[in-house]
Amino acid sequence: MSGKPEKLITDDGLRLDGRRMDEIRPMKIEVGVLSRADGSCYLEWGRNKILVGVYGPREAHPRRMQRPDSAVIRYRYNMAAFSVEDRARPGHSRRSIEISKVSRDAFEPVIMSELYPKAAIDIFVEVLQADAGTRTAAINASSVALADAGIPMKGLVTSCAFGKVDGQVVLDLSKDEDNYGDADFPVALTQDGEITLVQMDGHLTQDEIKKGLELVKKGCSQIFALQQAALRTKFEFPEAEEAEELEEEEAVEAAEAEISEVAAKYAGTTEVEEAAEADEVISESEEEESEESEEEAEAEEESEEEAEESEEESEEETEESEEESEEEAEAEEEFEEEAEAEEESEEEVEAEEESEEETEESEEEAEEEAEAEEESEEESEEEAEAEEESEEESEEEEFEAETEEETEEELEAEGEVEEEEDEIPAEELEEDAEEEAEEEEKSEGPWKVVKDPLDPEAGNGGENDE
Ligand code: ADP
Repeated sequence: MSGKPEKLITDDGLRLDGRRMDEIRPMKIEVGVLSRADGSCYLEWGRNKILVGVYGPREAHPRRMQRPDSAVIRYRYNMAAFSVEDRARPGHSRRSIEISKVSRDAFEPVIMSELYPKAAIDIFVEVLQADAGTRTAAINASSVALADAGIPMKGLVTSCAFGKVDGQVVLDLSKDEDNYGDADFPVALTQDGEITLVQMDGHLTQDEIKKGLELVKKGCSQIFALQQAALRTKFEFPEAEEAEELEEEEAVEAAEAEISEVAAKYAGTTEVEEAAEADEVISESEEEESEESEEEAEAEEESEEEAEESEEESEEETEESEEESEEEAEAEEEFEEEAEAEEESEEEVEAEEESEEETEESEEEAEEEAEAEEESEEESEEEAEAEEESEEESEEEEFEAETEEETEEELEAEGEVEEEEDEIPAEELEEDAEEEAEEEEKSEGPWKVVKDPLDPEAGNGGENDE
């Protein structure tokens, strides 16, 4: 702990930390630093570090604390044990109770507690580091935390203190000025300039108070601007949320465009596939294919137009898509009919194949029968030949038998002749011989009368002689 300086205000009219008389310490405000509180704020003011959490409106407990016509505002100021050079005594103290009471009263005129009967609005202040002016710093942070929690208020509350140092009225006392100064005068103001908190420690004249209040108004206006700026960073056109919204819009637009493109491609490809299948099935002519390609080109043009069209045109797109779906349904029906026709044709082909197989089998059988017939014919021919041969043989045998009989008859006749020669004259015999010779010449049958082989005059030169 440093001792009292000789001068709190230097010869050049500045304070020990270099500030002018009407200048506040640097301040930094962050909103929504606690995720489990309804509202929160972290504030640094000089070396002061304050953390505030707000809960509510919520049901007030214990119930004896409830008010039937309004919400209960509870304010708890607490200094952390490590917030000061000497260890701060934990728990309530007369000072902390006093600060809690005056600070709660500073907010009561602005919080619209009548909207929440039987409810409670809790403000918890933790002084993490103290360096004079902690109550005013806590009020400023609590005001932002209440706004962050969405507590209805008539306006923000801003607090600042003025004092007297070395006979001069100064704004926002530092630690040395507070400890070794002549007076400390904390004040809280609403946006309308109404005073909600006034305390005085020390001796001040009316002129000094008037002058000091003017400095407080100036300081509070600066603090109020910082509070508003802090809240705007979260609720009013935050850059992060704006960027996220832009990204979401771009993503949605990209997704819509992609969907429309895919839908258009899908419609085109289905037509092509169906057309290809139809070509395979019924082998359509090239003219039909060219017509389909024209339809595809038209579909692509329609898809491009659809991507550019507005919401009204999107309705038309739905109608067109319905028509396309109907066309697709018709194409599917045609395709099914063609498939059925194909199945029938396949069955016919199978029947033809079966008939062909049957005909082939019948032909083979016919060929076999023909071969058998040929064999039978050959056999019959052979048999006929054999029969002929046998007939010939039989004829020969008969002929031989006849010849033998004839020879026997001739022999008998010769014997008779020999017997008759004695009786028949020679001339008659010669006449008979000539007649026989003529008859032999006239005979046309295959079988000529064979001369008597024993007759030397007849010779042995007959055709059928063997
Ligand atoms: P405020 O912090 O609002 O000015 P005080 O005037 O009572 O309230 O306190 C002035 C300063 O004294 C505090 O900011 C803090 O730095 C210091 N102080 C207060 N209480 C204690 C304590 N118990 N132990 C050590 N320092 C303290």
